[in-house]
Amino acid sequence: MALFDGTTRSILLLEIIRGMWLTLCYLFKKKVTINYPYEKGPLSPRFRGEHVLRRYPNGEERCIACKLCEAVCPAQAITIEAEPREDGSRRTTRYDIDMTKCIYCGFCQESCPVDAIVEGPNFEFATETREELMYNKEKLLENGDRWESEIAAALTADAPYR
Ligand code: SF4
Ligand code: SF4
Repeated sequence: MALFDGTTRSILLLEIIRGMWLTLCYLFKKKVTINYPYEKGPLSPRFRGEHVLRRYPNGEERCIACKLCEAVCPAQAITIEAEPREDGSRRTTRYDIDMTKCIYCGFCQESCPVDAIVEGPNFEFATETREELMYNKEKLLENGDRWESEIAAALTADAPYR
């Protein structure tokens, strides 16, 4: 009987008709796919993407060279050197992140007392060479200038839940 049923289904192309019907139904439903990279999906305010170093609105670097991020980084990806400025403030002279080591855990961001190092919303930073993933302070500050408005908005959106 089962063999008969299977043969009948094959002859009448029932499975194909059922599949085509399903396709037809989905033709008129809202699309779940997006036309990436021209369209992008929503990101959580807690998304952990490419790192940035932020500045205050007056242009001063936020980082006070406390080295907490360097100490907490489980991948030992961060290297910081620091010295006092003439005005007595402590600032980094070197801030490197080896992005090939980074595991995007977010500990550096969580440990920072002044919200200087942040993992921003950028996830499109693939490179062709390893060297390009050795970020220095200039690169990180440049990233910060580029993504500041998005990062500030994400931190504000997340603040009530912390
Ligand atoms: S995200 Fe984690 S692994 Fe990457 S630099 Fe920060 S602390 Fe290190
Ligand atoms: S980025 Fe933040 S945690 Fe890291 S050294 Fe600067 S102030 Fe300290």
